[in-house]
Amino acid sequence: MRWKMGRRSSNIEDRRGGSSMPTAAGGGLGLLVIALVAAFFGVDPSLILDQANQLENQPTSSAPGNRPAAENELVDFVSVVLADTEDTWETLFRQGGQTYRKPKLVLFSGQTSSACGLGKAAMGPFYCPADQKVYIDLSFYNDLKERHQAPGDFAQAYVIAHEVGHHVQTLLGVSQKVYELRSRFSKVEGNQLSVRQELQADCFAGIWAHHANRTRQILEQGDVEEALNAASSIGDDRLQQQAGGRVTPESFTHGSSAQRVKWFKVGLQKGSLKDCDTFATRNL
Ligand SMILES: [Zn+2]
Repeated sequence: MRWKMGRRSSNIEDRRGGSSMPTAAGGGLGLLVIALVAAFFGVDPSLILDQANQLENQPTSSAPGNRPAAENELVDFVSVVLADTEDTWETLFRQGGQTYRKPKLVLFSGQTSSACGLGKAAMGPFYCPADQKVYIDLSFYNDLKERHQAPGDFAQAYVIAHEVGHHVQTLLGVSQKVYELRSRFSKVEGNQLSVRQELQADCFAGIWAHHANRTRQILEQGDVEEALNAASSIGDDRLQQQAGGRVTPESFTHGSSAQRVKWFKVGLQKGSLKDCDTFATRNL
């Protein structure tokens, strides 16, 4: 991916190495909300609730100012990708007669508080609609490379673009609608809605790649394959298999590998919001 010349975003909130104690508001409803919204990479919501309960009131492990130098380039990279999503979505929103409100991206190490409750590295990157921030612990990128065998800078960019996709869904009112519907639906129906929401975020990530490449020629040979590989490596079916379990589609909250690849591709090829209506289609 050609990124070094790109603009850096001013919307990075760097909390690495700082002490970011969970606030008192982190419990109860907050935890429930985070279990519902912090769903990247097939994390079982009950896991989040358990971990959050255990970790609440524990001090953060890293000392202030403890920022690994090796991460500097990664921070630079994340900042460029975020800026690129800002430029892309700003343009697309303007064309649709709307205003794009830029999200903040919080870098943290270990754990941090969010308006959705306690965020923890083990949950993977997530987006919190309540404070409109994307949260990422950069150690996740190691996981992506080692555990999920999805290396490459464009795979890393895809992860951010997916979370920004959730922000776009929030601005468009999609997230709120899904949240309301889920409270009225059964668990299985709710999961199916969640899958559609996740696949739309994948499609939105594809839209970003489409436009970023058209206007700024960011893609290099093999980049699309990197993102597709990442999308397929973190499908719910693969994750369930890796966890040693049998694959049970009714419990999916992110979609299968094939579905994630398909919708990223739709966004990438078409580049338009109307083609990303994963809620209208029968055939995911
Ligand atoms: Zn997601």
